[in-house]
Amino acid sequence: MKNVDLEKLEDAKFTFGRRAFSPRKMYCGRCNNKMKRVPIDMYVSDDVRVTLNAFRCPKDNEEMLGFDEARKLDRALLISRLLSKNAYSFKRKLSYDGDNYILRLPAEYTQGKKREEITIVPLEHNEALIRW
Ligand SMILES: [Zn+2]
Repeated sequence: MKNVDLEKLEDAKFTFGRRAFSPRKMYCGRCNNKMKRVPIDMYVSDDVRVTLNAFRCPKDNEEMLGFDEARKLDRALLISRLLSKNAYSFKRKLSYDGDNYILRLPAEYTQGKKREEITIVPLEHNEALIRW
């Protein structure tokens, strides 16, 4: 394997077409046939199912995803992992100021940047995803 000096690499500029990440057509990587768009139901886990708009080769059944659908699958895998009982988590004590509960985020999770707001995505009546 050739060693590459990452410090000496120059920036590269790429331009993507408007539909580059959500292609309307794809060609098979094996036989170069035009692929057909097919919905695929994928059970990521017992709790999470995702419908992907994949491309399938009519000749050899090779399947491919556009970037947008691959991202959808990534999100489904992430949600599945979050719902798993073995998902990494940590506990924090809540403070109470008389009206509101106050959550303190460990500084190491905010990457040293000051945060003035976070996003809370309710998942269930007693579960939420916190994004900062
Ligand atoms: Zn093919």
